[in-house]
Amino acid sequence: MKFSIIGYPLAHSLSPRIYNTYFERISVNARYTPLEIKPEEFEERIWEVVRDFRGFNVTIPHKERVTPFVELDEESRIIGAVNCVCEGKGHNTDWIGFLRSLRDIKLVEPVTVVGAGGAARAIVFGLAKLNVKNIHLVNRTIERAKHMAKLFSSIGLRIKVWDLPSLSRAVCESYTLINTTSLGLKGENLPLKPDEMCHLTLVYDVIYSETPLQTVARKMGIPVVDGKAMLYHQAVENLKIWRLLKDPKAFEEVFKEVVS
Ligand code: NDP
Repeated sequence: MKFSIIGYPLAHSLSPRIYNTYFERISVNARYTPLEIKPEEFEERIWEVVRDFRGFNVTIPHKERVTPFVELDEESRIIGAVNCVCEGKGHNTDWIGFLRSLRDIKLVEPVTVVGAGGAARAIVFGLAKLNVKNIHLVNRTIERAKHMAKLFSSIGLRIKVWDLPSLSRAVCESYTLINTTSLGLKGENLPLKPDEMCHLTLVYDVIYSETPLQTVARKMGIPVVDGKAMLYHQAVENLKIWRLLKDPKAFEEVFKEVVS
């Protein structure tokens, strides 16, 4: 059985190691191959990926762009982003991963979400499921954030949109900060000073390695959730969709071995 992950770049992705180690551990004849597809090659190559792979994951920057090429389930249609495909059907498991990663943590509103890409859409959908009403959306490209806010208004969410230089003003009005951008992956800082964060009750960062945002928040005693739990729970959902969650305990062990 052939599985894949498409994205660009993919060097940072732990998914091939996670899934291939798990497939070997449970003796399933399956292979998970990373396919780097540059944005300019996307339309030419996506059809062959849909045709040739039983299942594949979609990551940065293709989660929204893949939607016209697969048959969307209800949630991925609302979210407008797909991260998991099975036999030509598109699903979004990021929002489930986000909700499960919170466990019993109660989010305090208002919530500032930084980013307006695929991960942000899934997280805002998750926030709607939690009945969070007060959301600030901050993005470098403000038009993208405005477009996202308009889409989510159809499910009753009222989102206030800000540009990235206004991040500290949005955070000042919030108690929870969620970073859904790739900022921090290479050590970049968000445009935010530590003293502008001291009232926060939670910092959530989708990046699963240590970032300056996480380091600063931990030093300040702010509870931090990094992206590992979300990654784990969305992967469990992907395996269910691919009908390969044959040994959940083995998957949990493999995940801990690879992502530590
Ligand atoms: P997208 O390409 O869809 O969106 C990227 C977002 O990051 C956009 O809002 C973009 O802003 C912003 N961004 C990128 N570079 C910069 C920069 N230099 N300065 C400011 N903003 C920037 O990607 P995804 O939403 O799919 O993924 C985002 C991150 O989330 C990735 O690092 C990915 O690995 C991680 N992720 C983690 C998951 C987990 O399970 N832990 C699940 C899903 C994603 P703009 O619109 O202006 O381009």
